[in-house]
Amino acid sequence: MKPGLAPLDDAQLMRYARHILLDELGIEGQERLLAARVLILGAGGLGSPVALYLAAAGVGSLLLVDDDRVELSNLQRQVLHRMSTLGEPKAVSGQQALQALNPDVRVQALVERLDETRLRELAAQVDLVLDCSDNFATRHALNRACVATRTPLVSGAAIKFSGQVSVYDLRRDDSPCYHCLFPEADDVEELRCATTGVLGPLVGMVGSVQAAEAIKVLTGMGEPLVGRLLSVDALRMQWHTIRFRRDPECPVCARRAPASAGRSGG
Ligand SMILES: [Zn+2]
Repeated sequence: MKPGLAPLDDAQLMRYARHILLDELGIEGQERLLAARVLILGAGGLGSPVALYLAAAGVGSLLLVDDDRVELSNLQRQVLHRMSTLGEPKAVSGQQALQALNPDVRVQALVERLDETRLRELAAQVDLVLDCSDNFATRHALNRACVATRTPLVSGAAIKFSGQVSVYDLRRDDSPCYHCLFPEADDVEELRCATTGVLGPLVGMVGSVQAAEAIKVLTGMGEPLVGRLLSVDALRMQWHTIRFRRDPECPVCARRAPASAGRSGG
């Protein structure tokens, strides 16, 4: 056991047995998950599977952020919410569901739209951030906050039948940031699922990949999707991976402080 990690009790050894059985994860990996703090931005289509899987896996502290309320048209894909929580803030509805699933997990619900200063403040307090938002402005603001605080960022997107996932491990000097791959532009036309539609299980697929990558980064196992963009076309059910590098001219991450000035690398 690492210093600072609490040993598992009997109920936890039972609850997490199928993860502990994995050699790559084991008891120490489980202890790391229980000690981890994670920020989930968005409690909608992607945030639902992300939050459910991370709570089920015993990620000890979840910060669930969303300023929207649960609507009937959300329930086709946002599996965190119920008929009984229609009209409630999604963060609060989600908090109730996660708390009912796993009392080991401390869930904090934040019903607010975070500005850049708040994003940075929160990113500095957590071990990992999951971008489950639905617009470019938020994605870029969150990326800037994660670059500044060197917080690993697991980013997902889904619209119609197309989904994408990538991991930006900003503790590492060689990791690209979100802006390296998707430079910010004013003229980008944004597709919103309110007007274009989205296949319900697609957000489950993308969100589940995000949750798996988050668990990998938090426990240090395997090879996370750093410098790789995983895309899925659910209509043909084809998955593709493209590789990409850090942009040495990137206005967001090129001039950041070296790793020694921030949190330790992993
Ligand atoms: Zn960059």
